[in-house]
Amino acid sequence: MSQITIFKAKKIITMDPNCPEASHVAIRDGKILAVGGADCAEPWGGTQSRDDRLKDTVLMPGFVEGHAHMMAGAMWQYAYAGYHDRIDPDGKLWPGMQDIDAVISSLKTHEAALPADTPLVAWGFDPIFLPSARLNRHHLDQISPDRPVAVIFSNFHLMCVNSAALALAGYGPQTEAEGVLKDSAGAPTGELQEMAAMFPVMRRMGVDFRSLAQQEGSIRTYGEVAKRAGVTTITDLFSTMEPEDLEVMLKVTAEPGFPLRIVPAQGAIGATPEQIAAKAKSMAEQSTNKLRLGAVKLMTDGSIQGWTARVKWPGYVGGHPNGLWNTAPAQIYELCEVMHREGVQMHIHVNGDEAAEVSIAALEAAMRKNPWPGHRHVLQHCQMMGVDQFQRCAELGISANIFANHIWYFGDQHAALTIGEERAQRMDASRSALDAGVNITLHSDAPVTPLAPLVTAWCAVNRQTMSGRILGEAQRISVMEALHAITLGAAHTLKLEAEIGSIEVGKEADFAVLGADPTAVDPLALRDVPVLGTVSGGEVHLL
Ligand SMILES: [Zn+2]
Repeated sequence: MSQITIFKAKKIITMDPNCPEASHVAIRDGKILAVGGADCAEPWGGTQSRDDRLKDTVLMPGFVEGHAHMMAGAMWQYAYAGYHDRIDPDGKLWPGMQDIDAVISSLKTHEAALPADTPLVAWGFDPIFLPSARLNRHHLDQISPDRPVAVIFSNFHLMCVNSAALALAGYGPQTEAEGVLKDSAGAPTGELQEMAAMFPVMRRMGVDFRSLAQQEGSIRTYGEVAKRAGVTTITDLFSTMEPEDLEVMLKVTAEPGFPLRIVPAQGAIGATPEQIAAKAKSMAEQSTNKLRLGAVKLMTDGSIQGWTARVKWPGYVGGHPNGLWNTAPAQIYELCEVMHREGVQMHIHVNGDEAAEVSIAALEAAMRKNPWPGHRHVLQHCQMMGVDQFQRCAELGISANIFANHIWYFGDQHAALTIGEERAQRMDASRSALDAGVNITLHSDAPVTPLAPLVTAWCAVNRQTMSGRILGEAQRISVMEALHAITLGAAHTLKLEAEIGSIEVGKEADFAVLGADPTAVDPLALRDVPVLGTVSGGEVHLL
């Protein structure tokens, strides 16, 4: 008979309404055998040992991040150019840069240390925080006139490159491509919007999401990033995994001590809908405990802070034209029909409310053709969705993964510069979604914003912006609702609620190890609750 280990904690918040609190949890074979008091495992007999390493901590179910990207760790091989201070996977703090000059001088330093034939890539930049002129190729030519330089924006939907990088992709005054911005003289400004415009430059600079994600080092760093955030199950929500990458993923995730369960969703691009569905189904068969395959991610529109999201009337304030489709509506309909018919779960990126509208209608049409009550399709971001759209999601069994971090990071900018005060007040409408009966979770979209589910929960609970104002009082949710969203709510969107998301008998022994009780602190202090590490499959990983 295998060994039983009993962990004692200051408090265990189980998220199981049948037994909401406990002091001890017993583990056998990586799973939860018993929950309760010191004697909870007594009826099981056998060899029992006690582990008191967590006795002064508060345990919760391991947090589940339903929308993040495996490059969250790997991005740190590039220069950081963001507005906010940020902590890398080793725990080092990188100060934010508050104007273009600071970005240029920091990137100059970085450039000086690069080997001659290496392009300079930076990430995390966001022009919406900078009141000065928009970043353009002339700025970046100051860093280097001949080395290709690319600054990827924090939303990963836009970038700005220097003249050498434009030349690499053959972009010039003759270029007529959507997303390649031009100045009044007809020359490219250096700003490239959305995937069709960005990919030709990225490819030639050797930057692609696959090479960033699908390396042993990137997968291990993802594990480190997750540990610091209390996360034990995470997605990779636009996976570009090829068959040879799968070998690497299977190997690393099966290593003893790997602290994370990864749920990739294959990006629905580069093949016919039938081929994408067939690949998803064959991947699903290769799933292991730590690697769950078979879902698909659809990209529809762009990003609101980049003005590339597709929004309904009256559009953007200040007269910005409506955004761009990464997948045209007709293709969205086709992809939804085929994936749904083939039994493939979809995660669908919708930032603007027009993108949500088209996606909900496409899913409804697919469901009328081929009923599938257990589909669990998920709309991702859902930032501008109104009560009407959430009610339709409830009717259709669609979950919503809400980008709550936007309220803090971009809320002031949305009110002033993108969609205006009224619609900003009801952005990321967790309250409306819950009241409509929709299963919700909340996400960081790391590396877009840092992976930290307690911070994300804090955003949905408090709705405070960077300027300190409350944006949309009526959309606040309770601490317990937010904690449910980052555990069981997220598990539900991944079809894993039978295995993870709460501390109850039979589930995986996955815990977030915390330094304080998130249900006992002032809700405004929720984001300050220290994460001390995780327990994954019964193995303790303290920081
Ligand atoms: Zn994303």
